[in-house]
Amino acid sequence: MHITRQRPDTQAGPAEHFTGTVWLDEIAAPRLPSRLRMFSVHFAPGSHTAWHRHPHGQVLHVTEGEGLVQRRGGAVETIRAGDTVWIEPDEWHWHGAGPRTFMTHLAAVEAAADGTTVEWGRHVAADTCRPAAVPAS
Ligand code: MN
Repeated sequence: MHITRQRPDTQAGPAEHFTGTVWLDEIAAPRLPSRLRMFSVHFAPGSHTAWHRHPHGQVLHVTEGEGLVQRRGGAVETIRAGDTVWIEPDEWHWHGAGPRTFMTHLAAVEAAADGTTVEWGRHVAADTCRPAAVPAS
């Protein structure tokens, strides 16, 4: 058993992969044979990830606020504190805050055998980052 008494320093989401102000607290790093990796991710209003996918899928659990999630080809969905989202393996998607609301979620992934947890794609077009937007093509 190992108890971490304090979170490590929070990490700013790099502009390469995030739009706006995003902070990530790593809660669990993989400890083999477990490949679980977990973050608490804090999104300021209007901030969000770029398009990306996870080799073994992802669980998002909203702990505070209200935000948005979209899978490729799907509608922009509003998610709120208490909601849990399962992202399918290799399903392209993005997630983030609402235009005028903060959002914090826990994000749990299982690393692939080579340690990979995410593959990044393009930034999300600004006009799609609002509730009930027309699905991206
Ligand atoms: Mn994701």
